[in-house]
Amino acid sequence: MSQIIDHFIDGLRVPAAGEQTCDDIDPASGAVVASVSLDDTAAAEKAVAAAAAAFPAWRDTPVGERCQVLFRYKELLESHFDELAAMIVTEHGKTLPEARGDVRRGIDCVEFACAAPTLLMGRTLPRIAVSSSFSREREENIPLDSSLERVPLGVCLGITPFNFPIMVPMWMWPMAIACGNTFILKPSEKVSMCALREIELAHEAGVPSGVLNLVAGGRPVVEYLIAHDDVKAVSFVGSTAVARQVYAASAAAGKRAQCMAGAKNHMIIMPDANQDAAVDGVLGSAFGNTGQRCLAGSVAVPVGDAADWFVPRIVEAAGGITVSSGSEPGCGMGPLIDMQSAERVTAAIESGLSEGADLLLDGRGLDGCFVGPTVFDNVTEEMSLASEEIFGPVLSIVRSSTLDDAIGLTQRSRYGNMAVMFTDSGHAASTFRERAGAGMIGINVGVPAPMAVFPFCGWKESFFGSLHANGEDAVRFFTEGRILVSRWF
Ligand code: NAD
Repeated sequence: MSQIIDHFIDGLRVPAAGEQTCDDIDPASGAVVASVSLDDTAAAEKAVAAAAAAFPAWRDTPVGERCQVLFRYKELLESHFDELAAMIVTEHGKTLPEARGDVRRGIDCVEFACAAPTLLMGRTLPRIAVSSSFSREREENIPLDSSLERVPLGVCLGITPFNFPIMVPMWMWPMAIACGNTFILKPSEKVSMCALREIELAHEAGVPSGVLNLVAGGRPVVEYLIAHDDVKAVSFVGSTAVARQVYAASAAAGKRAQCMAGAKNHMIIMPDANQDAAVDGVLGSAFGNTGQRCLAGSVAVPVGDAADWFVPRIVEAAGGITVSSGSEPGCGMGPLIDMQSAERVTAAIESGLSEGADLLLDGRGLDGCFVGPTVFDNVTEEMSLASEEIFGPVLSIVRSSTLDDAIGLTQRSRYGNMAVMFTDSGHAASTFRERAGAGMIGINVGVPAPMAVFPFCGWKESFFGSLHANGEDAVRFFTEGRILVSRWF
């Protein structure tokens, strides 16, 4: 039997208990690397107790000192960069360059959180009014000063998906603790080893015991933690169905939540686009990370005669991607995360065929968790290929005769994470930007991922909440405003 992944609570690794477990596999080989406990709610209780106990002292630690720990953590991440990237390749299946990107973008978040002293500054307006005496017996003309301060919330919870094992947890906890909160991470059960190493390194950097905790688990642990009175805020990243549940459960428990969710992203290719840039951009967006990205472009929309050059070129380029274990040199695309995902993606291809789309490149027929690049042409808006998130290496081409028709597709999508256009026309680009109905717009860029200083701005069913992850939204999410009105006699 494989070893059960530990929790990390109050500064220590804690052996996991619970009755249900699942396998954590190396998706390239299918080998089980560990098991993960799914329902250890006793450990969740311990983590909340540790985080609640650590909160007063951490809140009262000057923000500059809190950030010194993050500066040291950044240095440790740099010196452990290769170790973390290799771990992602094994546990997740990414190619090495993709894994390195995951770590680098995580470090960006830590660097941003180091700016907390500036970001947490409040606002002051002296002499906002002049007060008169209540008794009216004394003539007074005393100024009232007013200010807004940002204060931490207490214990915050993060629930993360499998697809960016190092980066997505860092969307949450570095800023949360820089703001003076304590934190519990419940990572995806599919990549808990990476998350555990991330948290362990934070303690090596000097995060005090109890400030940052990790509880491995699945749905029972999530539900337990959301309902816990001492948990004050919930940050979630994952599929739309679960985001909706987590958002509703958090609201019912009276706590704030930000839930980043699933996506179906369109990429419009105009006839005047730079052809090399468009093919390369669509290729990376659709098949990078094996299509397992919330910013994966999964619907290509060539407008007018753009299809004449775009379709043959994208099929040729996709067919040239080398599919192998992410650790093999020259690998262009690794496996999906697990067998269930491979089966789900295969089923989506089969349903595309039965709906009548033309399969130009078929990625089925590979072993284990591997599905190769797949391209469908003549997909229509009504087909599930065009509307459902597949989260795998399947590109659907919906041909469109006009720019208006193409923009209509993005507007009617129930998702609103990203929309991309390849064009040489500033006018087409600005029309698209204003009307696409998505929160992250790429112009001649296949994956318009915001850097950590900007919020990750999903719209529609790609996000539930009002303050997104990262950027100044994160500072506001992880703090409460406090108004002070004062006068002195
Ligand atoms: P998922 O929804 O299956 O799981 C996400 C997290 O929720 C995991 O920690 C999991 O253990 C937990 N969970 C699963 N089912 C639950 C339930 N019923 N109740 C409570 N918790 C539950 O997502 P995933 O498969 O790990 O990740 C892929 C999804 O994440 C895709 O839909 C992708 O688009 C989305 N995603 C979105 C963003 C974004 O910023 N919008 C970023 C990355 C990934």
